[in-house]
Amino acid sequence: MTESVTNWAGNITYAAKELHRPRTLEALRALVAESSRVRTLGSGHSFNEIAEPGEDGVLLSLDALPAEIDVDRAARTVRVGGGVRYAELAREVHRHGLALANMASLPHISVAGSVATGTHGSGVGNGPLASSVRAVELVTADGSTVTVARGDERFGGAVTSLGALGVVTALTLDLEPAFEVEQHVFTEMPLEGLDQATFEKVMSAAYSVSLFTDWREPGFRQVWLKRRTDQPLPDVPWAAPATEKMHPVPGMPAVNCTEQFGVAGPWHERLPHFRAEFTPSSGAELQSEYLLPRESAVAALRALDGIRETVAPVLQTCEVRAVAADDQWLSPSYGRDTVALHFTWIEDTRAVLPVVRRLEEALAPFDPRPHWGKVFTTPAAELHARYPRLHDFRALVRDLDPAGTFTNAFVRDVLGG
Ligand SMILES: Cc1cc2nc3c(=O)[nH]c(=O)nc-3n(C[C@H](O)[C@H](O)[C@H](O)COP(=O)(O)OP(=O)(O)OC[C@H]3O[C@@H](n4cnc5c(N)ncnc54)[C@H](O)[C@@H]3O)c2cc1C
Repeated sequence: MTESVTNWAGNITYAAKELHRPRTLEALRALVAESSRVRTLGSGHSFNEIAEPGEDGVLLSLDALPAEIDVDRAARTVRVGGGVRYAELAREVHRHGLALANMASLPHISVAGSVATGTHGSGVGNGPLASSVRAVELVTADGSTVTVARGDERFGGAVTSLGALGVVTALTLDLEPAFEVEQHVFTEMPLEGLDQATFEKVMSAAYSVSLFTDWREPGFRQVWLKRRTDQPLPDVPWAAPATEKMHPVPGMPAVNCTEQFGVAGPWHERLPHFRAEFTPSSGAELQSEYLLPRESAVAALRALDGIRETVAPVLQTCEVRAVAADDQWLSPSYGRDTVALHFTWIEDTRAVLPVVRRLEEALAPFDPRPHWGKVFTTPAAELHARYPRLHDFRALVRDLDPAGTFTNAFVRDVLGG
């Protein structure tokens, strides 16, 4: 029997007729070795065809493999299986008195899928989630296993790899001692008068900071500060404290959001915006995101303000975050401290796409790199110009996967000639 496989948002139905779920590593190896086209699906939270293997390809899920999470307390590392999601990982790591440095807004996403696309949280000192990775274990096209660890010259291409090198069966991540975080929400921070120096102060006011707007008016409806309790209390003269709990999308109930009003709690129950115990099975939304040099943040926000009457009608919320530079060749934060401009759209692709194009035109002067897991229309030639180490990544793909078993149409566009 065939099943129709879609992504979480339901805007992509994969052409592959079936989702293969091997139960053992041996079965996975055998399946890969006998297939000429393979893509691995994580938790399916991407919004484009990045995971699409094509009609004759094999779409593979690791969710039936044993969910390995092996914490090494002394080394402060964890080895985590390729199908594990952040929520499960975080609970187990916390049980050992340890922590991950950062998390994305939703804890339900898989670790391997997240680091493959450059997924990030916020914080001027926090790199993308891939910066915690020390080693990647891959099953390559002939079914053999390759481990690429920090220090290996191929490591820069091995983590944020768009699933193009093989099936990631395990990752080893850095940990640190567990910490507590308080979340404080403020409202109504004007854009008028905001200069780059003040923007830097706002984004540096706490460990992780997010600004939200619906672009119906200039300025930000909400400012979320996540303060580590081992760091000083911030002074926030730019906005007034919220008087009720808030959801990033105006009008939505805050019950699914992580605790606010400065109630201290474990890192993994505050760093994401959404609670792990609330399970969103599908979402009535699309997302796009662009990462650009942080020094251009205010100029880019002003450019957005200039098109807000085009953007607002199809927008649920826009989030502004900071991401520290990293050294993964295909990371949207590669080599530069970044501001990430995120857009949660309504679920109507036809209405959203023209706005995405207009947005990309407005942001083009700021050298934006689109989030690999979200909706974008940036032509391949422009992508090539924006990734200075793309040629190194292309060479790595040829080295590890010479027959192109893990290269789909999406990856082919990125790799170019
Ligand atoms: C509600 C929501 C909130 C989000 N919040 C954030 C956020 O805060 N920050 C942010 O940056 N992004 C965010 N995203 C985007 C999301 O993090 C990315 O799309 C991420 O890739 C999702 O991981 P996934 O496992 O669902 O990936 P999938 O969509 O399943 O796959 C993405 C890519 O990873 C590859 N892949 C997955 N697993 C493996 C594996 N084991 N081996 C090899 N390749 C693999 C796939 O082939 C594909 O190329 C959000 C998305 C949603 C829906």
